[in-house]
Amino acid sequence: MTVRPIRYLGDPVLRKPARKVSRIDDSIRRLIEDMTESMYAAHGVGIAAPQIGVPLRVVVIGLPDEPPFALINPEVIKREGERRLDEGCLSVPGYRGHVTRSVFVTVKALNEQGREIRVRSEDDLLAQALEHEVDHVNGTLYVDHLDAKTDLVKLVPAGAREEDDE
Ligand code: ZN
Repeated sequence: MTVRPIRYLGDPVLRKPARKVSRIDDSIRRLIEDMTESMYAAHGVGIAAPQIGVPLRVVVIGLPDEPPFALINPEVIKREGERRLDEGCLSVPGYRGHVTRSVFVTVKALNEQGREIRVRSEDDLLAQALEHEVDHVNGTLYVDHLDAKTDLVKLVPAGAREEDDE
């Protein structure tokens, strides 16, 4: 397993809709391992393959105190309700934003064995992570959901490598 560098806002790989995985083989399983390592190294609760530079529809979610799991070719097939949440992203370090997310989220995907699974969640961190990560494989970032620029909050003073907002 390898920790791979996280791609930041401004990198075109984050903006292109990622390709569907057609065959789940060892290279995909290795990718999932690397994504999992990279997510934990960066203290994230979710990661999408484009965030480590791989344009494939693969996401990993690792909530606190729960085993991580992968979703391949994930699709949100049902969402209901609205709630305002505080959100951040490994690809937009140093910022948090206020976004509107759904209360109920159902995602259809394949697991690592290629079986179709559905993940249902309600009003929790998982629901938020599912919408956030599926957005990533569609080339969308949470900053796209801000109602206003003022909904984005800078957390730390400018570091050595500040990213420009688009
Ligand atoms: Zn993100």
